Amino acid sequence: MLYIVPTPIGNLQDITLRALDALKTADFILCEDTRHTARLADSYALKAKLVRYNENDASSIERCLNLLKEGKKCALVSDAGTPCISDPGWRLVQAARQNNIKVETLPGPSALTCALSGAGISGGGFSFLGFMPRKQGKIVKLISTALLLDKPVVIYESPYRIIKLLEIIESNFGSEVKVIIARELTKTFEEWISGLASEVILKLKERKKILGEFVVILDGRTKEDAKENEEEDIS
Ligand code: SAM
Repeated sequence: MLYIVPTPIGNLQDITLRALDALKTADFILCEDTRHTARLADSYALKAKLVRYNENDASSIERCLNLLKEGKKCALVSDAGTPCISDPGWRLVQAARQNNIKVETLPGPSALTCALSGAGISGGGFSFLGFMPRKQGKIVKLISTALLLDKPVVIYESPYRIIKLLEIIESNFGSEVKVIIARELTKTFEEWISGLASEVILKLKERKKILGEFVVILDGRTKEDAKENEEEDIS
């Protein structure tokens, strides 16, 4: 049996009873980085053996699949949040399903839902783009296509590339788009900044060093679009 187990994105209390039960009763915890998950295991007194799962290595997938075929109970985690959401996991899930191995997917923490629900914007739907590609042309194409749907657009970004992303947004979408960034969600220094891209850039550039993890939400909707979304939300 394969369990997909979301883990906290910052605050260690953000773990469900069911996730803890799956981790405590698992034979193996399949993880991106055993040293990272060892800290989680220490915090929750988990005893299962940690096995590295490397999605880019066919032999690693095979090894994990073999454990499942032997009937072992395996819990798949990522470094933080929900596995398979801009994180490894889907290849193992696919392989498990192809081999008729039962997969149980547990709901739980994700930076995506945490940011969206705390942003205070309407919209029953949204576009999630995950991490941006490296090339500026591709970034612009992705964002402009997503904005056409008239729904909020959610992006994951690192502290090293946040300014570059915001500058691309400023120069290509300028005043049409409202930006909300959520930094260090659920952690001590959680922070929200919103405004036009130019305003958010100014605020970030005021600090000596940009630290932490970011979720960026773009809202390019007109007031009418947003109102329509609100009505759809309620119905
Ligand atoms: N699977 C994870 C999830 O469900 O949220 C996402 C993993 S992805 C490799 C890591 C990215 O998620 C970060 O670069 C950042 O964009 C976002 N992220 C994760 N934790 C966060 C946090 N506490 N605050 C803000 N963003 C976070």
